[in-house]
Amino acid sequence: ERMCELVKDNPDVEVHFGAEIAHGKEDIHKDGEIGVKKSGCHGFCEMGPLMRIEPHGILYTKVQLEDCDEIFHRTIEKGEPIRHLLFKQDGIEYKRQEDIPFYKKQTRNVLKNCGHIDAEHIQEYISTGGYKALEKALFEMTPEEVIKEISDSNLRGRGGGGFPTGYKWSQVARQKEKTRYVVCNGDEGDPGAFMDRSIMEGDPHKMIEGMMIGAYAVGAKEGYIYVRAEYPLAINRLKLAISQAEECGLLGEHILGTDFSFHLHINRGAGAFVCGEGSALTASIEGNRGMPRVKPPRTVEQGLFGKPTVLNNVETFANVPMIILEGADWFKSIGPENSPGTKAFALTGSVKHTGLIEVPMGTTLREVIYDIGGGIKGDGEFKAVQIGGPSGGCLITPHLDVNLDFDSLKKMGAMIGSGGLVVMDNHTCMVEVARFFMNFTQNESCGKCVPCREGTKRMLEILERIVAGNGKVEDLDLLEELATTITETALCGLGKSAALPVMSTLKLFREEYMEHVVDKK
Ligand code: SF4
Repeated sequence: ERMCELVKDNPDVEVHFGAEIAHGKEDIHKDGEIGVKKSGCHGFCEMGPLMRIEPHGILYTKVQLEDCDEIFHRTIEKGEPIRHLLFKQDGIEYKRQEDIPFYKKQTRNVLKNCGHIDAEHIQEYISTGGYKALEKALFEMTPEEVIKEISDSNLRGRGGGGFPTGYKWSQVARQKEKTRYVVCNGDEGDPGAFMDRSIMEGDPHKMIEGMMIGAYAVGAKEGYIYVRAEYPLAINRLKLAISQAEECGLLGEHILGTDFSFHLHINRGAGAFVCGEGSALTASIEGNRGMPRVKPPRTVEQGLFGKPTVLNNVETFANVPMIILEGADWFKSIGPENSPGTKAFALTGSVKHTGLIEVPMGTTLREVIYDIGGGIKGDGEFKAVQIGGPSGGCLITPHLDVNLDFDSLKKMGAMIGSGGLVVMDNHTCMVEVARFFMNFTQNESCGKCVPCREGTKRMLEILERIVAGNGKVEDLDLLEELATTITETALCGLGKSAALPVMSTLKLFREEYMEHVVDKK
């Protein structure tokens, strides 16, 4: 009955639903008892609703209400797998989740609990070792030692910039002003990106614990989580997580009986992409219009309410508890030296298996698209991948063996961004792709500075007439000229990177632009 109830009524049922039947798991159920629980996203979104059977590790895909009876009577009672619910690829049937190629090449550290614990119960997080890192920080480490551990780990911000997190924290810690804030950026706005959403919905305590450790390290007593209003489930689960942590004495005054006090608040963004920019985000929390301001002063000096502020994104904070528990050396053992750790990517577009993945930094695009994503779907061939969303650029076939990490991508004129990967096949018009992203950026320009406000509008007009077949060859030069001016003179990151998709497609697919305009010469 419970299984049917979850499959039928869970709001995640379309793409995010995962139910785990814990059979004889001592931490949750007594021996021999059968439990059903809803879980966060397993990441294999296109095969959902998913159901994992423990302790066998069986993963059932595309589970429907009418399958529940059979699952109960055959799998739970008799231990028999149901073949039509198992995932198949290239004629091979996969029973265990860990053997499915989509999961096999992944290293799920940040997403480890997503799909395995019920995010609405703090006990589930605690049973996986949750809040042990906070305990270790509070009882075994000084704030300086926490900052040193994070600095030694070389954790770099997962929100796009790749700025060293420990260095950022140390800058806040050394400010004379003693009122400090910790802010989590959960305003994930890139089209096709949903990594932070999955963490907030599937394992909210992990990022909350990371924020608390950050607050202890820099001496902050208040924190804010800025979440986009389009993520109602994430907001509800964060609210629940905060109230449960408060009830357990893990948030509030004198946490775990120590002198450390920390209060956490949630702010809902109203869907403005520009509010992902630090100064616009803090302005929005303060109740002002979300618009970037000129820097300096930087956020670490004068951020929220004019006070020193640590501002990191969801995935960055979610890495912190693991680093404190396992140590900086463990973290550095994953991925390249300058970009250690893992990175979550939202793999979408013309790839066979779309979803949310987590791989060690330095994994190649080829491994992501072919080994994890199963290759290009249908009869298409790989053409390009847009990485980094509207602020990013394109990678093409010669880049398939480039390592996905901050520095390697920068050399290619692309960026990891927050982690959106949109794969495109040979049927995709790259001029239309450039127009799509320019339309997005133009819509999201806050209008504060002329180069971005007017420049993106003009670039969009040119792209629209090229796509409509009314462009001229001279338009390509005009696009390049405008792109350079906007990049060099716009006030914030949104404007500075707005022209990247156009510059990148112009460089890599100029002949396609020419095909659109050549008859009009
Ligand atoms: Fe606003 Fe664009 Fe200027 Fe940024 S670059 S401040 S988004 S107008």
